Amino acid sequence: MEDSKPRLLVIDDELGMREGIRRIFRLEGYDVTVAENGSDGVAIGSEQEFDVALIDLKMPDMDGLTVLRRLRDRFPDTEYMIITAFAGIDTAVEATKHGAYTYIPKPFTPDQIVFEVNRALGKRRLTLETRELRAEQERRLLEISQEKSRLRTIINAINDAVFVTNLEDEIVLANPQTRALFDFPSTIKAGDKISDLFPEEVIGLIREAQEKTRQGIELVSHEWEMRPNLELVVQMKTAPVKDTEGSIIGFVSTIQDVTQLKRLDMQKSQFVSMVAHELKAPVAAVSGYLESMHGQLLGDDIAAYAKMIHRSRERLQALIDLVNDLLNISRRDLGTIRREITAVHIPEIVESTQELLQGEMDQRTLAFTAEYEDALPTIDVDRDEFTRVITNLISNAIKYNREGGRIRVHAAREDDSVRIAISDTGIGMKAEEQEMLFRQFYRIKNDETRTIPGTGLGLSIVKQIVDSYHGNIRVESRWGEGSTFVLRIPVRFVEED
Ligand code: ADP
Repeated sequence: MEDSKPRLLVIDDELGMREGIRRIFRLEGYDVTVAENGSDGVAIGSEQEFDVALIDLKMPDMDGLTVLRRLRDRFPDTEYMIITAFAGIDTAVEATKHGAYTYIPKPFTPDQIVFEVNRALGKRRLTLETRELRAEQERRLLEISQEKSRLRTIINAINDAVFVTNLEDEIVLANPQTRALFDFPSTIKAGDKISDLFPEEVIGLIREAQEKTRQGIELVSHEWEMRPNLELVVQMKTAPVKDTEGSIIGFVSTIQDVTQLKRLDMQKSQFVSMVAHELKAPVAAVSGYLESMHGQLLGDDIAAYAKMIHRSRERLQALIDLVNDLLNISRRDLGTIRREITAVHIPEIVESTQELLQGEMDQRTLAFTAEYEDALPTIDVDRDEFTRVITNLISNAIKYNREGGRIRVHAAREDDSVRIAISDTGIGMKAEEQEMLFRQFYRIKNDETRTIPGTGLGLSIVKQIVDSYHGNIRVESRWGEGSTFVLRIPVRFVEED
C-alpha cells in the first residue's frame, strides 16, 4: 500500500463537486475514480477495494446510506465518508453509527476535505497494519506451538527419562519415561516441585549437578543403583539450559537405564576371573610335579616319576581341552565361525561318535543302544557343530555314568523338528543343580564328580549351538538314577535376521 497511490472513490451526482474533488486529490497524489450516481457507485465500489470512499448523502437514484451499507458489506475495511448539506447532518451522524468514518458538511474548503480524507487514509493504514501484525503474531504463535509439539514428540519418543527443571526446582517438561522409571502414580505436570517427586537420593544428585554446572562444568554425569543387586542401574546426565545471553535458566536431565551394560560388565569380569582360576589349577599342579622332578625328589630313576608324568599329561590335556573350548566360545561370540549348512543324517553322526568313544565305553563296560524312527528326516545343520553337540552329550553320558551302566539314544520327528534324547543310568543330579547346568564353567561338585575331569564349558557350548538353530535343550534327571538330555532341532534351517 505504501508504494502504490492511495485509491479514492467519489460518488456524487453533482458534476462540479465530483470534478472538483477529483482535481484536488489528483494533485495530492491520489488515484481517483468517480461515479455519477448511487448505483454506479455501488457497482464500481464493489468491484475493487478503495482506501477511502466519499459518498454524497442525497442522490436521486439511491440515497448515500444505502450505498454505504452495500459497499460496507462488500469491503468493510474501506474508510467511508459522507458528504452532506447542512440539512442532512442528522442523517450523516446516523451514518457514522452504521460504519461511516465521518461526515463532511458542505460547503467545505479544499484544505478541509484534504485534511479529512488524509486522516481517514491514515486510519485505514493503521487498521491494515494492525491486522497484518496480528496475523503475523498468530502465525508465530502457531509456529511456536508446532515447534513445541514437535519437541514434545521427540522427547516422548526417547527411551530415556528426560526432564527439564527451572531455577525454582520446578518441572518444566518431563516425558512419560520419567514417570515410568520412578513409578509415579500420576502424570508429572509442569510446575510440580522436584522435592515432591523424586526420592531424596535423586534430588541430592540433581542439586549436586546443578551446583557443578553453575561452576562451569557443562555436563554432569552420575551413576547409581536404583534397585540393589544389579536389578536396576541408571546413569543420569544433567546439563544447564541457557538463555540467549548465556545465563542459566534451568537444567535438563536424562536418566538412562544402564542395567544391561553393567550386567555385561560384571559377567565379563566374572568370566575373566573364572578362566584365570580354571587355568591356574592345572598349571600349578604340573609346575609342582616338575619342581619335584627337577629336585629329583624320588631319586634319579625316571620310572619313579611315572605317576607324576601321567598326572601332568592328564592335567595338560584338560588344559588343552579348556583352551579349545574357550577358543570355540570366543569364535562363536565374535561370529567368526563359518558354517556350512547341509542336510545331515542323524544316525550317521551318532554312529561315528559311538565309534570314536567306544574305547571309553568298553573301559567302563557301558552298553550303548540307539533307536531311530523309520521316517526320520535329515536336519539342516553344520556337520561339525552338530557332531560337537552329540559328542559332548554322549561323552558326558559316559563320564557321569556308573560301571556297567547303559546309554541310550533315541531320535524321532516331532512337528517341524527332530527330538533327540540321550539317556544314561549314571549319577544323575539334583533339581537345583539342573537350573545352573548350561552356564559357563558350572560343574556339580560332590564326591562322585570330584575325580571326573572337565571344564564346565561343554553344556554351555551345546546350548549356544542348539539356540543358534532356534532349537532348545533341557534335562530330565534324578539324583542317583540317571539323566536324559532332550534336544529339539528344527528340520529346516532358518537364517537369523
Ligand atoms: P564338564 O563335563 O566339562 O564339567 P559340562 O558343561 O559338559 O562340563 O557339564 C557341566 C556339569 O553338568 C558337569 O560338571 C556335571 O556335573 C553335570 N553333568 C553333565 N552331564 C551330566 C550327566 N549326563 N549326568 C550327570 N551330570 C552331568
